[in-house]
Amino acid sequence: MQLIDGKLVAAKMRAEIASEVARLREKGMKKQVGLAVIFVGDDPASQVYVRNKIKACEEVGINSYLCKLPQDSSFEDVAATTDKLNRDENVSGIILQLPIPRHLDENKLIDLIVPQKDVDGCTAAQKGRLWTGRDSLVACTPYGVMKLLDFYGIPLEGKNSVVVGRSNLVGKPMAQLLLDRNCTVTVCHSRTKDLAEITRSADIVVVAIGKAKFLKADMVSEGAVVIDVGMDRDENGKLCGDVDFDEVSSKCSYITPVPGGVGPMTVTMLIANTLEAYKKSEGVL
Ligand code: NAP
Repeated sequence: MQLIDGKLVAAKMRAEIASEVARLREKGMKKQVGLAVIFVGDDPASQVYVRNKIKACEEVGINSYLCKLPQDSSFEDVAATTDKLNRDENVSGIILQLPIPRHLDENKLIDLIVPQKDVDGCTAAQKGRLWTGRDSLVACTPYGVMKLLDFYGIPLEGKNSVVVGRSNLVGKPMAQLLLDRNCTVTVCHSRTKDLAEITRSADIVVVAIGKAKFLKADMVSEGAVVIDVGMDRDENGKLCGDVDFDEVSSKCSYITPVPGGVGPMTVTMLIANTLEAYKKSEGVL
């Protein structure tokens, strides 16, 4: 069994991004590379995620702007902030930190981000581009999973891939990315019948459901590649994934741990997408 080391891959990618940003700076940039995070309310988990995003930007020399709005902000308040950022030429990427307070319409607010700055690939426009095989900014977590698979040279063509979870953020784009690489893809969800039978048929299983240690050894075949997107807490409050790592790992050819697997890649792909968005806006190849 080979452990897929997300920290290692993320560190390599961040170093590459940092040197590319430095190179662009040396050449002289008219606009800055910048990521803006719109954070509405004070969700404690989000505070940690936002801090990590800002820190990652600092690490690679990308400017970051934290736009904090109160919990009781109106749709118009958030829309006005988004509009300002859309027009700011030093902001290359914008994300709306989720979850947002329940009284706000998430999809409508996301779609106010101009697609060329949608560095989390979550606007309908960017999703449509991905779905129809056009060049797009891809949702960070599934994009990070693809980078991990490629880094370890895991063959994809013709492989049976099963994605468990069908969220807009992870499951759906994950399935599309695997399909684009010529996997035969099955997407499972909470109403799937005989899930274990389906996951057992997979060469590659990606689990993104948010249920601690859900995938057990009898649900995977010998030699499978198992990617654990989950970020859950076990019975002792310790961070764990959707895969029961202790049970499953001995059967796998490759597996991602939690923490240290997919997690570090998500923020890395966010800064990679921010740089990508900047380069596209400036016509830098
Ligand atoms: P989500 O929006 O809650 O979606 C969960 C999906 O899992 C749904 O499609 C749901 O099916 C499915 N599901 C739930 N229980 C199931 C079951 N027993 N069997 C089969 N499918 C089941 O979650 P998400 O945003 O995709 O996140 C999933 C997990 O990934 C969470 O633990 C989250 O914290 C983690 N995550 C990690 C990162 C990272 O950077 N590592 C990034 C994003 C998310 P239905 O559609 O039928 O309800």
